[in-house]
Amino acid sequence: MSVPLHFQSIAELSEHLAARRISSVELTQAVIARTKAVESRVHAFNSFDEPDALAQAVASDSRRAGGQSCGALDGIPIGLKDVIAVSGQPLTASSKMLANFVSPYNATVTESLQSAGAVLHGRLNCDEFAMGSSTENSAFGPAHNPWDLTRTPGGSSGGSAAALAAGAAIATLGSDTGGSIRQPAALCGLVGLKPTYGLISRFGLIAYASSLDQIGPFARTVEDAAIVLGAIAGHDPRDSTSFKTEIPDYRAELKRRRGPWKLGIPKEYFGAGLDPEVGAAVEKAIAFYRAHGCEIREVSLPHTHYCLDAYYVIATAEASSNLARYDGIRYGHRSKEAKDVLDVYQKSRAEGFGDEVKRRIILGTYVLSSGYYDAYYLRAQKVRTLIRRDFLNAYREVDALITPTSPLPAFKLGEKSADPLAMYLCDIYTIGVNLAGLPALSLPCGFTAGGLPIGLQLIGQPFREADLLATAHAYEQAHDWHTKFPSL
Ligand code: GLN
Repeated sequence: MSVPLHFQSIAELSEHLAARRISSVELTQAVIARTKAVESRVHAFNSFDEPDALAQAVASDSRRAGGQSCGALDGIPIGLKDVIAVSGQPLTASSKMLANFVSPYNATVTESLQSAGAVLHGRLNCDEFAMGSSTENSAFGPAHNPWDLTRTPGGSSGGSAAALAAGAAIATLGSDTGGSIRQPAALCGLVGLKPTYGLISRFGLIAYASSLDQIGPFARTVEDAAIVLGAIAGHDPRDSTSFKTEIPDYRAELKRRRGPWKLGIPKEYFGAGLDPEVGAAVEKAIAFYRAHGCEIREVSLPHTHYCLDAYYVIATAEASSNLARYDGIRYGHRSKEAKDVLDVYQKSRAEGFGDEVKRRIILGTYVLSSGYYDAYYLRAQKVRTLIRRDFLNAYREVDALITPTSPLPAFKLGEKSADPLAMYLCDIYTIGVNLAGLPALSLPCGFTAGGLPIGLQLIGQPFREADLLATAHAYEQAHDWHTKFPSL
């Protein structure tokens, strides 16, 4: 085995496990050892439970020894973004507000992974309450990009991306409200999938903006992403927004769906602000699809220009409402300085939340306030409908869209933290997808001359993840970007 265990894919490792070439305990120990070797430099984890991880691995090995049928995830170490509840484990959302909070219950995705036999070994760093694009808003300090430790892994699921890229997990979960899975996947050279809104239960996910949030996998390969998606997708009566739809065998479908596809290039996604090296890599990927027999068409998404504005009205409005529950009474941090009830609210929130979270609560409260609701929130919702219509119109002509994931490769830590607008622009190609509720994934499509990964975004049609994954798989099969690992 030339590639170390901690850098192998789920598909490879599950074969080793099935053939008894390795045990889950050996694999988990290898991942733990790797985590210990890199974590002081990468800071991907908020918490890590070694004894608990090893106990899960032991259980996996004994299941296998007992001849119980084991799926591809049985015994595989998977990390969760620290906004996904695991019963009995810390759950902080990278906020001082929840610094000492222990989750009393499991998220539905947690239960799904546990019943698939995965070893859930740690909770991963992110921007506070998933608000940000660099993990610099984490109250516990930023995560670092394994490809260049002076740079951000992206955000908000930066720890999920950094851990996987560094070999400190075999796959991870993140959440994506405006790009938080796809952008860090792009910046760290990984596959990151944001599923259709409603495909995956949000029960047990700490809410940021409920009409946009969606959980999804980070993986080394498209096949691995298909495996994890298959384990967590499906209707959940505990989430009224989760959808009743048939879940195909995503992994098997990769081989069945071969195209050629009609692919659209939204012209609005290739304008000013796109880094030339990123643009060139995406153009090459488009040329690949053309050579693969796909029909490539330019399409227009005319309301793209309004995506950021609509997003920052809707997301902040929902955030201000969702975060009202952190009042110092029922959850999390309570100020020691408080003298009366009002004081408890005010001081606990003032001490518990970081600057970006406060900024968004204030913005969101403003756009929802009487007299401004119609002018901002209602109007943003109307714009959102137009944005969704743009995509659905494009899908009358094409099967999927190709764009860059992020306008820039990984930027330096500190470079944008003083300028919220510059940070918000990182999401320019990803947030339309959330507003429209569509599935999209990022996959590696090259490196800059300086050795930083570049991501390609494929945007699909609602609940057609199987086609989206197959389209990505066709590209991945013909390239070897996913076989490169950072030297840490
Ligand atoms: N960067 C965007 C924001 O700050 C998206 C975050 C996310 O997807 N969770 O809101």
